[in-house]
Amino acid sequence: MENEIATFESTCSHCGKVYPTPQLPDMSYGEFIFCSSDGSVYAHCDALSASAKLIEVLLPADSSADLFQSALAQLADPILGRTLTPEVHCPHCGSAERESWGGKKIGAMWVKPTTYDGLIALKRDELIRKVNELVENRNPQQ
Ligand SMILES: [Zn+2]
Repeated sequence: MENEIATFESTCSHCGKVYPTPQLPDMSYGEFIFCSSDGSVYAHCDALSASAKLIEVLLPADSSADLFQSALAQLADPILGRTLTPEVHCPHCGSAERESWGGKKIGAMWVKPTTYDGLIALKRDELIRKVNELVENRNPQQ
């Protein structure tokens, strides 16, 4: 089930182009918008879903909100073959740097929900290993 999400102007710091970015209302607790690194696809993540709860439980107890959000993006099934990131990327140059965002409302776009079928299909040990690898890659010094 896709969600219709309002889009607002973002301006890319790198190429200077203006592009529409889906943005959730301020009261959207436990929801995130993810984006592919080339800026071509967005996904809507419900962090209160059963799959998200599973990922939360497998992360270390002292994990930051950033790590949780990053794990939810990286462990989600690819959309149209593209893996997801927690940052918004410019659809023209791929840069995650924005000069401004949340500007004028442009319209709305239909955004697919994140799914975790690939993760859930893993055997228990593989699933735990995959989440551990993600944590280790993020904190190589620990
Ligand atoms: Zn750009």
